[in-house]
Amino acid sequence: MNTYQAEQIEALTMIRRQIEAMGAESRENLLVQIKDYLLFREQVGEFLEAHFTGICTQKCYQSRLSACCAKDGIITFFADMVVNMLVSNPVERDLMEHAVQHPKFEYKCIYLSESGCVWKIKPVVCEFFLCDEAESQAIGQNPEALAQWKAFEDAKKIYTWPDQPVLFESLERFFMNRGCDSALMYLHKSPGLVRIRRVRDGMGDSGKHIQS
Ligand code: SF4
Ligand code: SF4
Repeated sequence: MNTYQAEQIEALTMIRRQIEAMGAESRENLLVQIKDYLLFREQVGEFLEAHFTGICTQKCYQSRLSACCAKDGIITFFADMVVNMLVSNPVERDLMEHAVQHPKFEYKCIYLSESGCVWKIKPVVCEFFLCDEAESQAIGQNPEALAQWKAFEDAKKIYTWPDQPVLFESLERFFMNRGCDSALMYLHKSPGLVRIRRVRDGMGDSGKHIQS
């Protein structure tokens, strides 16, 4: 198992253990917190289905190329995993863990199975990746669809980009407060994202409050 797999399985099992051990009320609270995000992802999914299924099926799925799904190339946020774990049943959770420990394809993403991606709610980076060819063929000549896609890209930041308090950050904090730690907690570990949070909170890069 390489470092990428080790980080993935460590975070997955940590989140699963916490979610399965917590009471129904705490789980319900988390589901309430992610409700808007799930609705957003549903809307994005419908848009992709309407505009991209044809080109992606023809270019990648039929040839089993799945060019989007490169080996160890995908960033999975800790919060991606929390969301997915919350909406998955135990069998689906087992499938995720099995995929990481026993990847189906040597040169593809560890989460790619014979029947496609094993995530129920794919990592946000995957959902928003479109190759140039697919984008130009599917919506390049359709200004309305192009504008909608840009609007979705902007809306994504409401959940993931910490120049304001965001869901992905609060989900990490929820688990940090319960003693969890993971390399995938990028909102708290990535130097770039930490810097954005510090500026937002009126602190310098050193972490000290800037006097006004
Ligand atoms: S976005 Fe491009 S690379 Fe990805 S599945 Fe579609 S056609 Fe293939
Ligand atoms: S997580 Fe799923 S969609 Fe993303 S690269 Fe892996 S198989 Fe593809």
